[in-house]
Amino acid sequence: MDFEHSERAREVVDQVQRFVVERIVPNEQTYTDQLVHTDDWRKWRIPPILEELKQEARRLGLWNLFLPDEEYGAGLNNRDYAAVAEVTGRSFLAPEVFNCSAPDTGNAEVLIKYGSPEQKKRWLEPLLAGEIRSGFSMTEPAVASSDATNMKATCEVVGDEIVINGQKWWTSGAGDPRCKFLIFMGVTDPEAERHQRHSMVLVPVDTPGVEIVRMLPVFGHLSEPHGHAEIVYDDVRVPLDHVIAGPGRGFEIAQGRLGPGRIHHCMRAIGAAERALERLCLRAVDRVAFGKTLANLGGNRDIIANARMAIDQARLLTLKAAWALDTHGTFGALVDISAIKVIAPNVLQSVVDAAIQIHGGEGVADRELTMLMGMARALRLADGPDEVHRGMVARLELAKYKDR
Ligand SMILES: Cc1cc2nc3c(=O)[nH]c(=O)nc-3n(C[C@H](O)[C@H](O)[C@H](O)COP(=O)(O)OP(=O)(O)OC[C@H]3O[C@@H](n4cnc5c(N)ncnc54)[C@H](O)[C@@H]3O)c2cc1C
Repeated sequence: MDFEHSERAREVVDQVQRFVVERIVPNEQTYTDQLVHTDDWRKWRIPPILEELKQEARRLGLWNLFLPDEEYGAGLNNRDYAAVAEVTGRSFLAPEVFNCSAPDTGNAEVLIKYGSPEQKKRWLEPLLAGEIRSGFSMTEPAVASSDATNMKATCEVVGDEIVINGQKWWTSGAGDPRCKFLIFMGVTDPEAERHQRHSMVLVPVDTPGVEIVRMLPVFGHLSEPHGHAEIVYDDVRVPLDHVIAGPGRGFEIAQGRLGPGRIHHCMRAIGAAERALERLCLRAVDRVAFGKTLANLGGNRDIIANARMAIDQARLLTLKAAWALDTHGTFGALVDISAIKVIAPNVLQSVVDAAIQIHGGEGVADRELTMLMGMARALRLADGPDEVHRGMVARLELAKYKDR
């Protein structure tokens, strides 16, 4: 196992680090001030500072860093990009500034790997240019979607069209005024073998029959200007050439889509946990109670030590997963990817919880810490709940004993 980052990766990480510290973090408040704060998602606008920062980052070549593909991206492998993702995890704004934010990253990977030349021209190119955004519509309110074979929404081939019906929710990013297309996943042939029933279809958001019903709150916040949408697809018709890779290949595509994305999420979570630990320590050494700094009261040193050890363990395991993905592909990295998908969000959650606690009453009012808490908690569900990933780790562990 080799966790050494390439020289190019070290240079990119340094540049990204500088840009985050000097340009992004100082502009977080400007971004927040420029947001249109309203529950009416149709009025949401993109803060101009975001587009300014994107242009600057692009001019510096800090753009599409998540793509290992040299034709479209920076040519960094997953292990190298993991180090970049950790740095971007320190600011809620950073991933998008470098055009490296979900769900566009996963959707771009799908289009690069499975898209037709026409699909790439129409959707991938503007996505990678940062001109448009996208959504991924898989989860449904009516069924337990952690088991994707439960999916009920349909996309049936009728002549030279594909006809889409069903209800989805948690389609992240669909409230963004720049969101131009959704990748919809549904059942095409219920009689086919279990993993060949589904298709993925490119659906322009303005297609008749696509109705965005509402944005779902995460702990009361609508995550403007991106949002997590509930969407009704009612007799939505698109040409057959909008199906990605052809009908029946939805599961195959979904499996390939999630490996790198989970590593990105986990490394960002580790960067966020570092930020939370930094906040915790600053408070612990600066504030005094009962004649001592908070760091020297009760079990607070143990809390700090445990946080440091947990973050470092999570980072090493995530790097191992990235290395396994680069070396053995998705199927050779299944255990590690599922393991980090459980560990990293839980580490973030516990470190943020400790950071909130040491801030006393101010902790539950602190915008950054409460946002990180919401992110950690939601991440334990998004891309599959903890239990499903533990199930995968246990299944592969027990497979070693299948002959007994
Ligand atoms: C902030 C956020 C963003 C999201 N973004 C997207 C997106 O962009 N696109 C999209 O399609 N979806 C998205 N999701 C949805 C997410 O992927 C699903 O919520 C998740 O897969 C779980 O599906 P479910 O909500 O139907 O829960 P269910 O399947 O109903 O599961 C509920 C609970 O049952 C338990 N459970 C399930 N399976 C097992 C098991 N095998 N063993 C033990 N217990 C189990 C777990 O406690 C689980 O949390 C997002 C979710 C969140 C919170």
